[in-house]
Amino acid sequence: MNIQENISLKPFNTFGIDQTARFFVTVRSIEDLKEALQFAKAENLEVFILGGGSNILLTQDLDLLVVKLEINGIKLLREDSEHVWVKSGAGEIWHDFVMYAIEQEWAGIENLSLIPGTVGASPMQNIGAYGVEIKDVFESLEALNRESLEIEVFDAESCRFGYRESVFKNELKGQYIICSVTFRLRKQPVFQTSYGAIQDTLAKNGVKTLSIRAISDAVIEIRQSKLPDPKVIGNSGSFFKNPTVSFEKYEELKDKFPAIPGYPQDKGVKLAAGWLIEQAGWKGYRNGQIGVHDKQALVLVNHGEGKGKDLMNLSQKIQDSIFEKFGVQLQPEVNFI
Ligand SMILES: Cc1cc2nc3c(=O)[nH]c(=O)nc-3n(C[C@H](O)[C@H](O)[C@H](O)COP(=O)(O)OP(=O)(O)OC[C@H]3O[C@@H](n4cnc5c(N)ncnc54)[C@H](O)[C@@H]3O)c2cc1C
Repeated sequence: MNIQENISLKPFNTFGIDQTARFFVTVRSIEDLKEALQFAKAENLEVFILGGGSNILLTQDLDLLVVKLEINGIKLLREDSEHVWVKSGAGEIWHDFVMYAIEQEWAGIENLSLIPGTVGASPMQNIGAYGVEIKDVFESLEALNRESLEIEVFDAESCRFGYRESVFKNELKGQYIICSVTFRLRKQPVFQTSYGAIQDTLAKNGVKTLSIRAISDAVIEIRQSKLPDPKVIGNSGSFFKNPTVSFEKYEELKDKFPAIPGYPQDKGVKLAAGWLIEQAGWKGYRNGQIGVHDKQALVLVNHGEGKGKDLMNLSQKIQDSIFEKFGVQLQPEVNFI
């Protein structure tokens, strides 16, 4: 185990925020992970688990041990006539895992192509895009209990998945480290093309026979045209979650703002946070090194040397202005560290 000191985290977060970690270690096995935790305990240090750094906003230097998880490996556990059960190490890159599944003709995660980050972080917020969430293909995960250093298995129910939520972001926050995830993928695909953008792109590409590869290609094309590339401009994708309001509140908003988009759910109507932010005039806003993307109002950006604290303050201002204009409370999707 090579524990480094005073490491800049700029290359390790997609916002490109330059804060340092007092200690930093990369772990490639559960044994290394336990050793790192024991080191932290002996030194009385807090621990922060880092995947691809694509859903964090660093607001300060971290006076702790950053553990970068690179526990890799993909294994086919079993199969029947309809499904395969595939286990992936937490450190595998999510998009590479999706590409691997597509090569094997395993269906179910093609709509989640090109989401940045690691497999291990995917259950944290139940990643989702274009009508699919990982809960739809999730079988179980193995996580290290940080207190007992024992591995525990969580099934879908015990993960309490919700929209960009899981038990690991809430009741069990900071208590477990996800080491592997097992997915249940389909041998015969069930295509999810309900999103208009997917249908339009498939039609534009002249796709006559649907395939998981064609859907993945369409999703990649849409994402590349819509979302800024973190390698070019620092960002962490959607900064806020799409809020859900009651049916009554939605009617009230519709009276005042007839163009407001709304997506009915079981318990209310989901609004498009990006639309609200754009209507409040924030799209393309820039203050020095930070701002709001000029094509996608849901994405906050670092133009180069921006500070996490300034982005945090900007996000608060956006929340306040949305509340003032619409009476709707936005919640960040990004984890503030
Ligand atoms: C351009 C862009 C587009 C995006 N689009 C989407 C999208 O369409 N849908 C979507 O859902 N998300 C999206 N995201 C957000 C992000 O990709 C996901 O949240 C992703 O799962 C984060 O993975 P990560 O490995 O980078 O996690 P990190 O940012 O490294 O970590 C996120 C949080 O999880 C914790 N964590 C990470 N790994 C583990 C582990 N193994 N065990 C315990 N805790 C852990 C960290 O401590 C931190 O609190 C996007 C981000 C970007 C930059």
